[in-house]
Amino acid sequence: MEKEELKRRCIEVIEKRKEEIISLGEKIYRTPELGYKEFETTKCMEEAFASLGLETVSPIAYTGCKAGAGGRKGPTVAVMGELDSVVCPEHKDCAANGNMHACGHHVQLANLYGCAAGLAESGVLDELCGTVEFIAIPAEECVDLDYRDKLIEDGKIQFYGGKQEYLLRGGMDDVDMVLQCHMMEVEGGRKCCTVDTVTNGFMSKSVKFIGRSAHAGIAPHEGINALNMAQLALNNINALRETFREEDKVRVSAIITSGGDLVNVVPSVVTMQVMVRAASVDAMEDAGRKVGRALKAGALAVGGKVEIHDRIGYLPLSTDSTLSGLYRENMLAYGGADEDSFVEHYETAGSTDLGDMCQLLPCMHVWASGISGGLHSKDFKIEDYERAYVLPAKMLALTVIDLLYGDAGKAKEIMEAYRPKFTKETYIKYMKDHSVVELFDGSAI
Ligand SMILES: [Zn+2]
Ligand SMILES: [Zn+2]
Repeated sequence: MEKEELKRRCIEVIEKRKEEIISLGEKIYRTPELGYKEFETTKCMEEAFASLGLETVSPIAYTGCKAGAGGRKGPTVAVMGELDSVVCPEHKDCAANGNMHACGHHVQLANLYGCAAGLAESGVLDELCGTVEFIAIPAEECVDLDYRDKLIEDGKIQFYGGKQEYLLRGGMDDVDMVLQCHMMEVEGGRKCCTVDTVTNGFMSKSVKFIGRSAHAGIAPHEGINALNMAQLALNNINALRETFREEDKVRVSAIITSGGDLVNVVPSVVTMQVMVRAASVDAMEDAGRKVGRALKAGALAVGGKVEIHDRIGYLPLSTDSTLSGLYRENMLAYGGADEDSFVEHYETAGSTDLGDMCQLLPCMHVWASGISGGLHSKDFKIEDYERAYVLPAKMLALTVIDLLYGDAGKAKEIMEAYRPKFTKETYIKYMKDHSVVELFDGSAI
C-alpha cells in the first residue's frame, strides 16, 4: 500500500476516536499525581492500551506502563508520554493536595493513546517494518525529592528521573529512537509548534555546613558559625558569575533550606540546595567544580566543615533534526501548517530527562501549541482541544509511518547518522561516579 494511503487510514481512526482521546486526557487532568506516585494514572493508561487490544507491561520504572505493537522485523520506535503532574496550589483546577497538571503531561498521555489507536486499529502496522512501543513514563519533573530520596534509600529506584530509571532497568535496550511532544504556548499560540529543541542540563548539590554551637552572647568565640560559612559561600558563588561564558548558559541557583534554630545560639548546622545548569556536560561539570570550591572556601574561612552531596540531575537535550523534520513535513501535509507555522529552533535553560536519552539514541521533542498561560503556572489552560489533544496524536503516528515504511529506510538512515555520547554502561557509570558525598574539613587548615 502507498505510504499516503496508510497515513490517511491512520488519521481516519484518530478522527473517529477523537472524543475518547479528549476524555482520557480530561480524566487524567482530574487525577494529577506527582512523579513515582502515578499509580492511578498508570492504571488509567493500562486500561486505555488494553482497550485497543494491546499487550501491556506494568510497572516499568516503579510506576508507568508500556504497550507494544509491530509489523515485520525492523527498528523499534518509542513514543513517550509523561505521567506526572506538578504542584500548583493557586490553579483553580488543582487537586486538594495542590497537585495540578500544569505542564500538560495529561495531554501527552492522550496524544500517546491517540497515536497508539491510529497505528494499531488502522492495520497500518502490518504494512510497516519494525515495532512501536507506546511508553507512559513516570517522573519527568525533578521535584518532591525527599520522597524520591526515601525510594532510593529503600532500594526501590536508583534515579530521580523516570526516563533515567527506565534506561537503567533495560527498558531502552531494544529501542532505536524516541518521539515525544510537550505542550507550550508557542509564541502566543501564533506558531503551531517548535521543531528542534535544545535544553540545559543540571547537577544538584545538597550542602550541609557544619560548625559548632555556642552561646551567641556569652561565648561566640567558642562557636563556629555555619550561617557565616553559607553566606560567604553565596558571595563566593556570585564572584564566579563573570567566569561563566554566554554560550554555556550557566545558571547557578541556591537557597538556604535551614539557617539555624535559635537566635541566641551560634548556628552549628546550615543546609543549602544548589542547582547548576549549563548547555553542555563539560560546562556543567566546570561550573559544578567552581561552585564546589566556593562552598569549601566558605567553610575554610570560618574553620568549619562542609558536606557536599553531588548528583547529576538531567543531561542537556539536543534533538535529532531529521526526526523533527519528519514531524514538520507531516504538519505541512496533514496538520494545516504552512512554512510560517514553526519555531524552527527553540532553546531553553530549563531541563528534561529526555536529555539523558538523547545522549544514547536519537530523540524528537516537539513543543506543540494548543494551550495558553505559562507552564507550571496558575494560568495554564487548554485553549484548543483539537490542536492540543488530537493533532499531535496524528502527527506522531504519521511520523512513525515515515520511519518504518518500506524497509524502514528512514529509521535506518537516522540510526546510522546518529553519534551517541554514551553507551548504556558508560552512562550509568557516569551517573554513579558523579553522585558523590564529600566532606571538606576547613578546621584542619
Ligand atoms: Zn514541567
Ligand atoms: Zn513537562
